[in-house]
Parts: sequence; C-alpha cells; structure tokens
Amino acid sequence: MESKTFNPFAMAQHQFDQVADLLDLDVPTRDLLRAPMREFHFLIPVRMDDGSVRVFRGYRVQHNDARGPCKGGIRFHPQETADTVRALAMWMTWKCAVVDIPLGGGKGGVVCDPHNLSQREQERLCRGWIRQMAKNVGPLEDVPAPDVMTNPQHMLWMLDEYETIHGKKYPGFITGKPVGMGGSLGRTEATGYGVIYTLREALKEQDIRPEDTTAAVQGFGNVSQFAVDLYQRLGGTVVCVSCWDQADQTSYTFRKAQGIHLAELREITDRFGGIDKAKAKAMGYDVLPGDAWIAQDVDILIPAALENQVNGETVQKIGPKVRIMAEGANGPTTPEADAFMKERGIFVIPDFLANAGGVTCSYFEQVQCNMNYFWEKDEVLGRLDQKMTSAFLAVSDLARRKKLYMRDAAYVISISRVAQASRDRGWV
Ligand code: NAD
Repeated sequence: MESKTFNPFAMAQHQFDQVADLLDLDVPTRDLLRAPMREFHFLIPVRMDDGSVRVFRGYRVQHNDARGPCKGGIRFHPQETADTVRALAMWMTWKCAVVDIPLGGGKGGVVCDPHNLSQREQERLCRGWIRQMAKNVGPLEDVPAPDVMTNPQHMLWMLDEYETIHGKKYPGFITGKPVGMGGSLGRTEATGYGVIYTLREALKEQDIRPEDTTAAVQGFGNVSQFAVDLYQRLGGTVVCVSCWDQADQTSYTFRKAQGIHLAELREITDRFGGIDKAKAKAMGYDVLPGDAWIAQDVDILIPAALENQVNGETVQKIGPKVRIMAEGANGPTTPEADAFMKERGIFVIPDFLANAGGVTCSYFEQVQCNMNYFWEKDEVLGRLDQKMTSAFLAVSDLARRKKLYMRDAAYVISISRVAQASRDRGWV
C-alpha cells in the first residue's frame, strides 16, 4: 500500500508550511522549526549468534528542544529512513506541545527486522545504539522510548547500557520500561486509550452514542489492541482489524461483521502484532486483502499501523457512512487524502493529538522516576484522561471558532507554543 515516492518528511514540512502561512510566521522562526536542530547517523556493529558481524544503520533526530528535553521513540524497521525519523521527530515536537507537556521532539531508529534477530542479537543491537548515542541523550537532553517493533525489554537493555557507561542510576533516561523496573502502570494502555479518550469527546460533541457506532481498525499492535479494548468497553463494535503478515510479506484484514473478539484474537497474535491467518479463519473471521479495512461500512476509522495508509488512492475507498477518523498511527494520512476528507466533511482527530497518550504517560513515567514514587494505575489513567480531554477540547474549540480543519487547528496551537518558546529564549 506504500507508494515508492512517499516521503514522510516532505509531508511533515508541507503540513508545517501551510500552518506557518496561516500564522504568518517570520522567516527565522520558519527556518528553525521546519527542520531538525540536530541529527545523528551512525553504524552499529553487532556480533551475531553465529559469530559473524553485521553492521546496522542507526539514527537519532532531535527536532526541537525549546520547550524541554527532546522526547521520542526508537523504531526498529527494515524500511526505516532518515526522512522517516525526521518526520517522526518533528511530529513529536508538535505532539508534546499540543498536550502541553514540557518536552521537545526527537525520534530514533535502526534499519533492521527484529523478526530475524534472536533475543541476544536484539540486546546487542540495543546496547550498540546506546554506545553510539550515550553522550548526546539523557534525562535532561533527550529521552527515548519504544515505538514500532521495540518494547519494554529493549528499553531496559538500553537503560542498563546507559547507566553502565555513566556509572550512576538514571531511571528518567528512558521511558516505556517494564513495570517494577521504573516503568509506569498504564503506559502499555496509554496510546490506545488516549485515542479513545479523544474519540469519546468527538462523539459527545456530535451527539453520537458510542454504543450506536461501528469502527474499522488498521493494525493489531500495541496502539490498536488497547484502542479496541476501550472502544468496545464504551459499547462500540469493531468489525475488523488488520496486520502485516511476515510470511506472505503483505497485509490482511480480519473481519467479523458482528464484532471482533479481542481476547480470542490476541491469543493468536504474535508479539509483533501479526495474526495467524489459518487460526483466524477457523474462528470464523473473513480474511480479506490488507486495504479492505478502509472500505468497510462503518462510522469510524482508526488507522493504527504505519504512515501513508490513507493516501490519494486508498481515500477513494472510504465508505459513505464514515463520519470520524481517529489517527492512532503517526502520519497515516497524506495531504492529498486530507483534501478529500475536508471535502467529505469527515471529522479527523489528527495523529499528534489522538496518539499523544503515549508520550503523556511517558512524561508521567519520568515524573514518577524523578520522585522515585510510583502512582496507582487509576491515578495514571485519570491524569491521562484529563490531559487528553483538555487538549482535544482546546483543538476542537479553536477549529469551531476559526472554521479550521482539525489537523490545522492542532498545528496552530502546537506551532504557536513552540514558536513562542523559541522567541522567549531569544533564539529568534
Ligand atoms: P506495533 O509494532 O505494536 O504494531 C503495529 C501493527 O501494525 C502490527 O499489528 C502490524 O502487523 C501492523 N502493520 C504493519 N504494517 C502494516 C500494513 N502495511 N498494513 C496493516 N497493518 C500493518 O506498533 P504500535 O506501537 O502499535 O504503533 C502503531 C503506530 O502508532 C505507529 O505509527 C507508531 O509510530 C504510532 N504510535 C505508537 C505509540 C506507542 O506508544 N506504541 C505512540 C504514538 C504513536
């Protein structure tokens, strides 16, 4: 489904430029905000289990730290590129600003496919990433976290390497750690739940009861599974989810018209969010092509896989009933598709608002680590709901007052905040 020419960084800059025009930003502020302040490209040699050495390419991009230390995940993906990391770092800046937490934007990655790496090889890769970056990341500079195909165990190996190099304990260096090892309760659920907190508010504003709605979800990883969980508990029906199939090197949609069963699907899903096709069929699921999720006769779409999934081509397939799209993934929708959504009057809860629950909870994790005092899960999720709800209400209020598309309204708030911080510091 990914077009060869798609460049997420060009898309992030295009989105930025449009709002910079709307805000009439001066040239130095534009120059500062439309590109990363710093980036690191490096090689990580890893001793493989068979004794050979493989060299992996790693990245860290620090887009902007005017509002606080950079914050952002590390993604392991075979198609990772410098421009993907740049785009994701830039979106992190806007994400932290829209939920008003005192952090900037960063992102990292390694070009690799962890499906083909043993646990010990993954550990060496994580430690190798830290050895390359140890001088330029830290609790007061740049705080990494998990992203696609990285998990709490990876974060703990990274923390251990960082603490070994620096000779002290720095629990606030990295977030998404395992609970009991400096992780926060609620972090696993945070992004998916956050998507649904904003969706719940959107439905409320439109006077729609969640129990009267149906949704189609793309992806079945961390974000998707917890979004499905909370949405179903609010009474909504999820008719399908989709995933990448490693063996066939393509994606599939798994549909049950009366509603998918989360627990039974989880049982046949691997740790990368891949669902076992044969077992799903035996359980009564229709196994459809990967892009079928977008064409379902539903009220709500939740893309929660990767970028560039709702594009000029796929957007045409969106069913006539769809009223809301809540973006769980980063950058799922291209500007071309945005134009179509605007015309169709589909209410979009943009990625850097809808999926900000993860970074908000990561921020709570840092706060708890720094206090060395950990909150109960209800307290974490209660505070998360508060932050997400007030960010959503501020964006939707601005969108209504200024007659803006939701993505543009969210950008106006974020870019204004980061521009103001840069001016206050005397940078521009
Ligand atoms: P994950 O690795 O846990 O799951 C990704 C899911 O997407 C898997 O089910 C995978 O099979 C599926 N997938 C991959 N390629 C696909 C394709 N072409 N078609 C259909 N499905 C496909 O990742 P995640 O943590 O759930 O992240 C998903 C998205 O959400 C990413 O864009 C990520 O950057 C974003 N995000 C994640 C978090 C977080 O806290 N995990 C926070 C903010 C944003």
